[in-house]
Amino acid sequence: MNVTNPSGPTNPDSNGPTFDIDRLRVKPGRPVRLADHDTRATPGWDPKNKDGGKERLKQQNKITEELQELLWANGRERILVVLQAMDAGGKDGTIRHVFEGVNPTGVKVVSFKKPSEKELAHDYLWRIHKHVPGDGELVIFNRSHYEDVLVVRVENLVPPARWRKRYDHIIDFEQMLADEGTTIIKLLLHISKEEQRQRLQDRLDEPDKNWKFDPGDLVPRSKWDQYQEAFEELLSRTSTEDAPWYIIPADRKWYRNIAASEILIQTLQGLNMTYPAPAAGIEGIEIPE
Ligand code: ATP
Ligand code: MG
Repeated sequence: MNVTNPSGPTNPDSNGPTFDIDRLRVKPGRPVRLADHDTRATPGWDPKNKDGGKERLKQQNKITEELQELLWANGRERILVVLQAMDAGGKDGTIRHVFEGVNPTGVKVVSFKKPSEKELAHDYLWRIHKHVPGDGELVIFNRSHYEDVLVVRVENLVPPARWRKRYDHIIDFEQMLADEGTTIIKLLLHISKEEQRQRLQDRLDEPDKNWKFDPGDLVPRSKWDQYQEAFEELLSRTSTEDAPWYIIPADRKWYRNIAASEILIQTLQGLNMTYPAPAAGIEGIEIPE
């Protein structure tokens, strides 16, 4: 495999053409209606071929591993992956599966919970900005500044006049990061209300999943439509050329994983990174015994 720029279709098998991530991308300025996005769809993949999908993820994971090493060695690019979903949408599972085997050096997951008092005493981007990736780093935001136009909006945590201005701030903030050398990908793991019910019920029914059940998750569930509306507005307004949103149908976990992985791989490949030139005069050096 060409490790300088691991490339080429990662789907050389019988499942049709190269996975077209563009189909999942939200085109800037185009209004999004989530009801039009089937949560069980598997664009670019045969829905019956789950086993092939799992096999494919293994191949993708090797490529991701190489690309991340290249990212680190190259040391010039900064990668930010933003993950958002309703509860039980699969953020943790996606991170676990897509980054399996990746060298933890240079990769960081940042989970944004309810803001602390100190965080609330600052503007909402203050706690976010300090975690953005530096050179050679890949940072995954598990929730993000988008909570500030999601839960904050639905729960009226600040007045509408205040959160309404945030879409523009966020666009500008992300554009600044992009202009300064950060590559941004934003993934919405899109599940159905019924799939969420099933997953939450499983957490109650299966003793080894009980620890995952948070009764607090029932509150956003009871406001499902308001959250979908809030998602629709942010998807419609904040998907830009330099910081695009992708809507990943996420009811089928195996598809969600290959889709997220593919978006990451193709984005990294697009950077055409190379390894740094070797130090001068190393040819012929023999390490002494
Ligand atoms: P898991 O449940 O898998 O551990 P999680 O992301 O759901 O992961 P929790 O601690 O359960 O983590 O939830 C974090 C909570 O913090 C969510 O309810 C989210 O909406 C809330 N939150 C995140 N950012 C903000 C914010 N800026 N303002 C208010 N609430 C926020
Ligand atoms: Mg939770």
